[in-house]
Amino acid sequence: MEKFVFLLSLWSAKILSLLIRIFKLGQASNFPGKIALSLQKDFLKHFILKENCKVIVITGTNGKSTTTRFLSNALKTASKKTIFNKSGANLLSGIATLFSTCANVFGTISHEYIILETDEATLPLLTDQIKINFIGITNLFRDQLDRYGELDTTIKLIEKGINKDKDIVLILNADDPRIAYLNSPNKKYFYGLNIIDSHIDSNGSNNKWLADPEEITSCPKCNNILKFEKKFLAHLGNYKCPTCKLARPELDFEITNHKTDEQTLYFDLLTKKIKSGFFTHMIGVFNLYNALCAIACIKTVSPDTTNVHIQRSFQSYSTIFGRGEKITLENKTSWIYLIKNPTGATEVLKTLTGIPNARFMIAINDNFADGRDVSWLWDVRFDILSSHKKEIFVSGKRAYDMALRLKYADISQKQIKINDNLIKSLKDAVKSMNEQETLFILPTYTALLELQKRGIAKSEFLT
Ligand SMILES: [Zn+2]
Repeated sequence: MEKFVFLLSLWSAKILSLLIRIFKLGQASNFPGKIALSLQKDFLKHFILKENCKVIVITGTNGKSTTTRFLSNALKTASKKTIFNKSGANLLSGIATLFSTCANVFGTISHEYIILETDEATLPLLTDQIKINFIGITNLFRDQLDRYGELDTTIKLIEKGINKDKDIVLILNADDPRIAYLNSPNKKYFYGLNIIDSHIDSNGSNNKWLADPEEITSCPKCNNILKFEKKFLAHLGNYKCPTCKLARPELDFEITNHKTDEQTLYFDLLTKKIKSGFFTHMIGVFNLYNALCAIACIKTVSPDTTNVHIQRSFQSYSTIFGRGEKITLENKTSWIYLIKNPTGATEVLKTLTGIPNARFMIAINDNFADGRDVSWLWDVRFDILSSHKKEIFVSGKRAYDMALRLKYADISQKQIKINDNLIKSLKDAVKSMNEQETLFILPTYTALLELQKRGIAKSEFLT
């Protein structure tokens, strides 16, 4: 009977996916899986995976999509049969859709690697239904608090997911104390930055970009405030507890130095006492972490994938929709960077303001997928833009809130150009530029979708 219900659910999902595609009814990345799960609650349990198939989950607040892409791209370059939820549909329904699309009509999946970008709260639901072999965790930042509450709740959800199976191997960001010391007996590998040069912010007194005071991190063991020898990004860094002597774990994978120019990030990776150089056409410390997490995962899950495969996959990496996409508008260069939470947005600003002739447009919506509450804008370090002397274009449904936020970041009112019509605002921004300048468009998720619908951003990520 169970088998019959499974096949019925599977075929329903398959037929729905097909119909959605044929009639172009939108993205078939969630709905078919949702229907299948409503017909059979433990739908995912019934798929038959190939013997030795490895299931890898990537979770965390920021960088899940990029890390998942890096990882699956490298495995594919090494000729491993790999699937991943590329549309970023990271809830159970998205994973159910992926499984039903990739399985044959009997529910057999013949791939060697299944990589699942998974929302933190979905993890325990997922471990209930499928055998997971590896979990890579990127970081834990404040993100859409209205959905999950405090970070402590998030870490408990992750622990709940992991502790259902002690055989799951963990690949953890050692620079994030909450992740490095999550409560689990499982085998752990650690990755982190060990950079001494001055390119990356330290926690020193001259540091202009000292992490948000709210990001003060308490010791996971004794709850006293941790002391950071160095912070690389928000609360991520090399720490020690002055009270109980807890310290960042020994690193299995570390980046020892890095160099960046306008479009490329070069870095050295040290693992098992061997140093190797890599580069990727993405910039920013956040992408350094994403690349590092992906390499740590690749080397753990598939040790025969070589550095050549990894480097080749970095070079061919197609940017995820909106996470650093280059477009040309009236012969002028423009890049789109999605912003969705204070830490991510601050890091994007820090990276982009260093680029000569940068111009900015910010588009803020407050639709459901963006998070209805735009108060997060007050936690973004928009003061980074205060040395920028050109106009800044603000748009989206909450253009006026954004303009007010910029005013409080000491940006002159004359510089702020408000137009809640996204396309008109974009046209004005492009018109105001000369050909040497580069426009950086920073939209929230649904503003990005609007750019995609208008054919301005590529649709690759969503189809
Ligand atoms: Zn302590």
